[in-house]
Order: sequence, then structure tokens, then C-alpha cells
Amino acid sequence: MSLFPETEFQLGPEYQIASVLISMPLPEAFDYRVHEDMKVELGSFVTVPLGPRSVTGVVWGIKKGPAKRPLKYVEEVLEAAPLMPKVTRDFVERAAKYTCTPMGSMLAMCLRSKEALQPSPTETYVYRGEGDVPRMTPARQKVLDIAPENADAGITSAELARRSDVSTGVVKGLVDCGVLELQEAPIDKPFGQPNSELKGFDLTAEQQAGADALCEAVRSKEFKPILLDGVTGSGKTEVYFEAIAEALRSDPTAQILVLLPEIALTQAVRERFENRFGAAPAEWHSNATQKERRRVWREVGAGRARIVVGARSALFLPFQNLRLIIVDEEHDGSYKQDEGAVYQGRDLSVMRAHLGSATVVLASATPSLETLANAYQGRYQHIKLLARPGAAVLPEILLADMKENPPEKDCWLSPLLVDALEQNLDAGEQSLLYLNRRGYAPLVICKGCGERLKAPDTESWLTEHRYTGMLVCHLTGFSMKKPVNCPHCGAADSLMGVGPGVERLAEEVRGLFQGARVEVFSSDTARNPEELNGIISRMEQGDVDILIGTQIAAKGHNFPNLTLVGAVDADSGLKGGQGSDLRAGERTFQLLSQVSGRAGRASKPGRAIIQTYSAESPSIQALLANDRDWFMELEMQSREDLGFPPYGRLAAVVLSAENSLAADDAAATFVRGAPNVDGVDIWGPAPAPIAVLRGRHRRRLLIRSNRNIDLSAYLSSWRERIKLSSSVRVSLDIEPYSFM
Ligand code: ADP
Repeated sequence: MSLFPETEFQLGPEYQIASVLISMPLPEAFDYRVHEDMKVELGSFVTVPLGPRSVTGVVWGIKKGPAKRPLKYVEEVLEAAPLMPKVTRDFVERAAKYTCTPMGSMLAMCLRSKEALQPSPTETYVYRGEGDVPRMTPARQKVLDIAPENADAGITSAELARRSDVSTGVVKGLVDCGVLELQEAPIDKPFGQPNSELKGFDLTAEQQAGADALCEAVRSKEFKPILLDGVTGSGKTEVYFEAIAEALRSDPTAQILVLLPEIALTQAVRERFENRFGAAPAEWHSNATQKERRRVWREVGAGRARIVVGARSALFLPFQNLRLIIVDEEHDGSYKQDEGAVYQGRDLSVMRAHLGSATVVLASATPSLETLANAYQGRYQHIKLLARPGAAVLPEILLADMKENPPEKDCWLSPLLVDALEQNLDAGEQSLLYLNRRGYAPLVICKGCGERLKAPDTESWLTEHRYTGMLVCHLTGFSMKKPVNCPHCGAADSLMGVGPGVERLAEEVRGLFQGARVEVFSSDTARNPEELNGIISRMEQGDVDILIGTQIAAKGHNFPNLTLVGAVDADSGLKGGQGSDLRAGERTFQLLSQVSGRAGRASKPGRAIIQTYSAESPSIQALLANDRDWFMELEMQSREDLGFPPYGRLAAVVLSAENSLAADDAAATFVRGAPNVDGVDIWGPAPAPIAVLRGRHRRRLLIRSNRNIDLSAYLSSWRERIKLSSSVRVSLDIEPYSFM
């Protein structure tokens, strides 16, 4: 029997129906009936029943009933949560469509702290009241010396007792006689308010011109995409700080988002913001605790957090009035999220700014080809900073041609680089050796049978980590103790690491320069913020002579006494396995420019030595000649010839299944169902370069189309018309960055 008598539907009075988008992988909003005494608005956060569960969603539409079929009721309106503004709802819709992601999954990105939708938990805080102390004792004095003036300090009785080094009884005694007072208040405290009137550096003329242009864009309150294109160390941060100050000044409710590659969010960056604006920004990153997330989400949603600094997913925070987005190091590959909802944070930042009529600043010394092309074509304003301020000059770049200047046997440093390191040590200056390979050796083979050790469920070589004695798969995190015997032929002590990782390089350097203070900087030695900040501060304080680092060392840092950078294997990004990666050359150029740019950032001049076997490759030549534009134009030409982005569109489809046969079947079925459209090329299916990942067999397709085709819509409709077994997974990737 229906819950609702038929007649009510034919004759019953009109009632309110809310279309609710649920934060689950569902493509559209569902209708729910609204109780008469319940008030919902567009953007209200609500809970609704879905099957046996109660789930969270957002009101996407409101209409009048009666409905054609019985509807369940909205359960609760979450009053503590802010309304989701129209611009955010538009953003969710547009981003979902563009990335071929179900709308509900996109909404889930916006709901990263469910707890923030409830009122903040409260706590009882203690502070100094008006009353006089009836009988002073040394213990009471200790408490009163540090008791805060008001409850905003957020100190509980227990905490006050701990900090004063007295028993809780002493604090309680003072509360009982009214000397201390108690107040219940939310746990989630507001962030300090930034001050836009503090002064930064005196800007150079070039910096000032850039800052003026950014400020003008911010004041216009229109969509203004800007490329801030400045050589490493030219002061891009100082320049965009001016735009942040202008946004704060010109609109009392303006919010500002600064996106950084995840690993760039360091104590040094935090302090720069704090020094410039007098208050720490709200921070959003993947290591944040639930409590920190809840606080940031709530404060951003209430419009009280004015400056947010975060990794790519910060774009989905509940901003109420987002006026300015900065994407720092905009070329960085970490803006692309490859798993779950697949999106490019930089592109979505531009989309978000467009929808909200805001300014978006893409900052880089080595802009991505896409961004540069947009600037060349006049779609983005192009601001250039060509010089470093003050005495700092760009580093001199030298090539170490490894064919002519080879290292000794089983070593990785050319004589040229060894000499330079020695000179630097003698001069008391710091050096950085860059090698983008974690661990000791990237490959482990058996001397007896030639077996290369692989992860059990993934087609990738295991890396030897000697500090921990483990063999690790860097793709999946699988690890095992290094066996004594070869798992294939059983030979004892026959396993040998091949090729260099940072640990092995450190061994070589320690052998060459006894007494030098050598440190390894990689995600294995900087596993948490404390370790990361430890390395950075030892470097800043001059406690390290030679730092040996992966990508994590290449970006953003300012070490004034660092004057020599050696790129140990400059070709690694260009070598095999990545032949189909259209950005391999571009990325190599970017990384080498970034890492070279760490040298000579203060008064002492710096130099970079690039070890290469392919001295003639355009990316290396461009670096040597300091001619980025020539290189990028060459790359643009080749992309244009191939009709690749940004001159055409590209998408990837990866189908995966439990075994090879099922994967082949699924791929064949998928391709057979491709809609036939002029201007679309389909390549594949072929086994993916990583043909097995976590036990799943993978097949790839690459789809290229002309620019005028909506490739997202094409792919979505293609996906919809194909029926595949439920054990097959299909992942769609618009503008892929990974070709593995
Ligand atoms: P970028 O972001 O372009 O790499 P930064 O903004 O980090 O450059 O600036 C590089 C260094 O130069 C920083 O230590 C910064 O404080 C300093 N700096 C930048 N502009 C000025 C200026 N006008 N006067 C003095 N120091 C400056």
C-alpha cells in the first residue's frame, strides 16, 4: 500500500518540494517533500533519507507540489551551516560537467567536514574575574600571573592548572571565591583578523607596476585572469601580497584563497603571511586533523576566515565572498588530482573566479604551456617580473656533459660537479644536489638470474631503501623487508641495487667530503611537518653543507647561503617510459629552472651545474641559454602540429578489471560503443604502461578532439550508453597529466 492515499495526489493542496543534491556519487538532485513548519532555502544544508540511511545534501531547487509519486520528507535543516551560495552551486555543476564527475561527488568535495555542519562543540573556559583574592598563596599567585583576561583565550581550568604547575584544586578554589570566572564557549575559535595596513618591502619599480595592475583588477570586481610571470626570486609573493592587502581593504567581507602545491606549505611560508598581515592565515591541507578541518570549514563558511592558504582542495571550501584566488607555482603537477574526482585545480580556479567575477592570479617562473598560450592570445593579462630585487642575480647555468666528463665507476657525480662542491665547501657556502629519486636504488636485480624485483600486485619495480632496509613500491606504498635470498632463483646475497637514489648519492658525497654536513631531503626524511621544518631550519641556520634532495627540495625555498645547485640526473624526466607524455620536455625544463633558481637568492651569486647525457635536447639548451620563451614556442608548435592541448582537447579513459581477459573485453565493448563524431580521434585501447595496479588489469584509451568539440559532453554520453559488468571500473580524465 502506498504511504500516501491516491486522492491526496490528485486533489491535495500544493506543498513545497526540495530538490536535494546528495553528497554521494549520484548524477542529479532528488525530490523530497518539505514539512509545513520547516524553512528551507536554496543552498540549505539538509539531511534526507536515502534507502535505510540518513544522508547529507544541499537544497538545489525548490518548487511547489503535488508530486507525481509519493515523496519522502526532508528530515532536518542544518541551521548551523551557512547557506551554500549560488556561485558555489554553479561551480559544483559546471565543474562536474567539465570533469565528467557525478554532481554528487563534486558536492562531496565541498563537504570535507561533516562535523562543521553541526553547531561547534563547546567547552568551559576560565578567565580572571572582578573578585579580590581573599587569601593569597604562592600557588594562587602562580595561577593569577598567567590567567587570561577573557574566555576568548580558550584556556580550560585543567590547562590553566597545568601551565601554572599547580593542582586543579587551586584553580577550583579561585573559581569558588569568584576570582576566576567560567564561561562556556565554542571550541572552534575564529582566526586572527589580517591587517591590510601593515607595510611590506619597498617594491622595485617593476614589482610596483605589477602590484598596481593586480590591485586594479581586484578593485574592478570583474573576472580578471592574470599570469604573474616572474623569474625565480623576483618577488612574486611580495607582489601578490599587495593584491591580498587591496582585496582586504576594498571589501570588508572579501575572502582570499592562496593555493600552493601541498609540499610548499611550510613554516617559512606561514611566517611570511603572519609577518605581512599580522595574523596567521587559515590553513587547509591533507594532513589536517578533523578538528582543524572543522574549524577552517566553519570559519570560512561564516566569512570570518579572510585569508586561506591551502592545497588544491581548498578551492571547495564554503567561501561566501571569494574575491581573489592566487595559484602559486601554477605549473605544478600537484594541482592535478588523479584519483577520485579527477580535476586540475588551476583550471577549476579560473572557472571559480569566472563564476564569481573575481581576480585569479596564476604565478610562476615557468608557467605551463596552457597558461602561457592563454597569455599570448590575450585571454590572460600578462605581468612580467624580469629581475631579482637588490643584489640578487639569476644563477649562472653550466652544463656537465656526462659523455665528455663522466663520473668514476659506480659514482654519479662528474668531476666538474665534485670540484664545484669542494670550492663551495671551502668558501663556507651551501650546496644542493637534486635527484628526483627517493631511496637508495630505483631498481633491485639478482646478480644470479637477472630477476628484477617487482611489487606482487603491481607492474612496477621495487625501490631499495637502505636506511630502513625495505623494498618499496612508490606507486602503491607496498613495502617488504629486503630478502636475503632472491625470491626467483633462491641465490643468497645476490640482490643488488641498480642506479642512484638520494641515499646512495649521500653515501658518495660523504665518501668524497669527510666531515661535510650532509643531509637527505625527501618525503622519507620529511615525513611530517616537524621533520620538514627541521630540515628547512637546519638549512637556514647553516647547519647543513650539502643538501641532497628530491622534488621536495626544488620548490619555493629561500636559503640565502645556497649558492650551488647540481642537477645530478637532468635527463631523468626525458627518458623512456614517458614517451607518450606530452609534457615530459616541459616538465623537465620547469623542474630544472625551479631547482636552479634555488641558487643565489640573496646577495651572493649562485650557479647551477646540470649533468646531462642529452646536452642537445631543447629543454637543456633552453635552460643554458636562459631562453624559456624559445623553448615554449617550440613546444607550442609541436602541440599545434599534433592538435594537442591547448590547440585541441585530450581525454583519457582507463578501464580496469580483475583479470586480463575481462579488461580486454571491457575495453573492446567500450570502444565499439564510441559515438561517431567528426573531429574526434580515438587511440587504443592498449595495455596501460602500468598494466597491473593493485591487482587490477588496466587498459587505456586516448581521445583527441578539435577545440570546438565539447569533449566532456562527448565522453559523458559515451560512458552512459555502455553497459559493463559491475566489476569493471571506468575512469575518465579530461586533460590528462598522467599517461601511466
Ligand atoms: P618569488 O616568489 O618570485 O620566487 P619571493 O617573493 O619569494 O620571490 O622573493 C624572493 C626573496 O626576495 C624573498 O626573500 C623576498 O623577501 C625578497 N624580496 C622580494 N622583493 C623584495 C624587495 N622589494 N625588497 C627586498 N627584498 C625583497
